[in-house]
Amino acid sequence: MKCPHCKEDDDKVIDTRMSGDSVRRRRECLKCGNRFTTYEYVEKAVFSVVKRGGRREAYSREKLRTGIEKACAKRPISDDKINEIVSDVENLLVALEKSEVSYDVIGTLIMQELSKVDPVAYVRFASVYREFREVGEFVKLVEEKPKQGNF
Ligand SMILES: [Zn+2]
Repeated sequence: MKCPHCKEDDDKVIDTRMSGDSVRRRRECLKCGNRFTTYEYVEKAVFSVVKRGGRREAYSREKLRTGIEKACAKRPISDDKINEIVSDVENLLVALEKSEVSYDVIGTLIMQELSKVDPVAYVRFASVYREFREVGEFVKLVEEKPKQGNF
């Protein structure tokens, strides 16, 4: 694995454990000593995502994770928690048993899961997802924010 710090592809695994439905490995870079974590998954979600405008692409857990990670940036949300959110959304998507899922459905599920975890991450994701043009819409969404969850 490439070290995210120095980009050297030389590391040793110092810890391996199961984390939900993934294998989590703690690694140490042999060049700079930086420690980082990687996750490995068995690909279980096989379906296409229908984007706006009808374009299709294969579902990617990485892309899902990137979107959620961005929303959670600098929030008190651990890497493990982010993985849990990604897995929760993915499990819901798999449970649909569809060969094609629209991007709107995915976005709605991500918002649903984020709303249970962190209000700021939720609003951030929602604001990117819905591409607000007016502040008014944004305020309305915040007011409509689901009340359940642990915040
Ligand atoms: Zn390194």
